Amino acid sequence: DASATEAAAPDAVRAASGTPLAVTANVGSAREAATARERGADGVGLFRSEFLALRSDGVPDEDAQTEAYAAALDRFPDGEVAIRTFDFGGDKPLPGADGTAPRGVAGSLAAPDRHREQLRALCRAAARGAGDLTVVLPHVTRVEEVTAVRDHLDAATDELKAAGVPHERPALGAMVETPAAVELAPELASRVASLSLGTNDLSRHVLGTTRDADPSVAQPAVVRAIDRAVTAAADAGVPVRCCGEAAADPEFAALLVGLGVTELSVAPDAVPALKRRLDGVDLPAAATLAERATAASTKSEVDSLLNEGP
Ligand code: PEP
Ligand code: MG
Repeated sequence: DASATEAAAPDAVRAASGTPLAVTANVGSAREAATARERGADGVGLFRSEFLALRSDGVPDEDAQTEAYAAALDRFPDGEVAIRTFDFGGDKPLPGADGTAPRGVAGSLAAPDRHREQLRALCRAAARGAGDLTVVLPHVTRVEEVTAVRDHLDAATDELKAAGVPHERPALGAMVETPAAVELAPELASRVASLSLGTNDLSRHVLGTTRDADPSVAQPAVVRAIDRAVTAAADAGVPVRCCGEAAADPEFAALLVGLGVTELSVAPDAVPALKRRLDGVDLPAAATLAERATAASTKSEVDSLLNEGP
């Protein structure tokens, strides 16, 4: 067993100053949540619920969704599990759909029955599963999307109450993965309990590249977009997690915590190394690094700052 020969990952990660930092996992099923737990993740930072549909014959019914969400929550009785509503579209089309539906939360709002069903499953899982549930909205581009989901959540809880089904209303969070969400970050942060940075999509939208191209998050424009979102969240007193692949890069991870991100969510297998990297990190030095990277004008400046580290 190769992992047994590596240094053990610390249980709880703290910066040198004592500030706790969470290392959580990106998963697509309850089974992957169990793997994440085995790798030492503190919770689930992103459950991509669309994988439940993409890896089977379509969208599972309300009961099957409730099972999957509750099983993931049960893996983290003392932790938080952030489950994202379906993010179909773009590189993840809903099987059988004609591809004209809008991406992310807009796609859910365009299919209200399916969306309501998912929200009911999430509310039922919140009451059943052990961990703390946050429901995260993908590809947010408008404030009204958050308001509309809140209305659907009201209706979903009313329906469950009327039917006598045990349920609990989960916290709401929003992905910041479009330039629109960066622009609206102050408004979004004042309306949700947490923000999730999706650097995979944010970098390609900021840079105008395709998702398959080298994501190159280490660029002034991307660093500044992240900084704006994190600052807006800090001003609103709302925590920010980062769920993009960049969070698993040891150099970029230091920059993210320096910017003020307090939770990094990565693939389960990347959890142990990231925990070792962040344990005892010098936060004031990381903050200085982040300040310099935010002020940098060129990619080569950002690259050399990242090489230098905090
Ligand atoms: C992202 O865009 O960075 C993200 C976490 O979402 P996904 O990779 O599922 O699009
Ligand atoms: Mg995304």
